[in-house]
Amino acid sequence: MKATTTPKTEKPDKAEAPPRGALMNQSRHDDLKRILEERKREMLSEVQEKIRDVRTESSTAKANDVLDAGESSEADIQEDIEFALIQMKAETLNKINEALTRLEEGTYGYCFECGAEISERRLRALPFAVRCKDCEEAREMAAERARLHSQRHPSSSLFFDFSR
Ligand SMILES: [Zn+2]
Repeated sequence: MKATTTPKTEKPDKAEAPPRGALMNQSRHDDLKRILEERKREMLSEVQEKIRDVRTESSTAKANDVLDAGESSEADIQEDIEFALIQMKAETLNKINEALTRLEEGTYGYCFECGAEISERRLRALPFAVRCKDCEEAREMAAERARLHSQRHPSSSLFFDFSR
């Protein structure tokens, strides 16, 4: 054993690997869990409500078979929209469940790029954020630079500098 450093404490120098769940402070863990579970409850009740609406609508549409063609196709479109909405909400629900799993694994709420904790405020607004504010801004700036660069050089022929 090396005697140069204090024996039982390891230096927290593993910045690139996301810290393990055990290191996350318990109150943050609980807060994040509460945020995700609130979202989950909201989504679940919205999905259930929508499904109930669609069922009621389509059963009344079927019972009422004197609808003319125009009316029934409008009902179909409406039904398609409702199903698309349900699908979107169901996908959000999946993401919430994934986030809850990651929270239990101790990988949720940490920046994908730098490993720093993503602020609770940010996660409250964007529960599926995978980067901290700084890294996200840096990424957006890089994307913007790339966009401006590709505008200035729209085709590969411009890689040659003709002005020389
Ligand atoms: Zn970061």
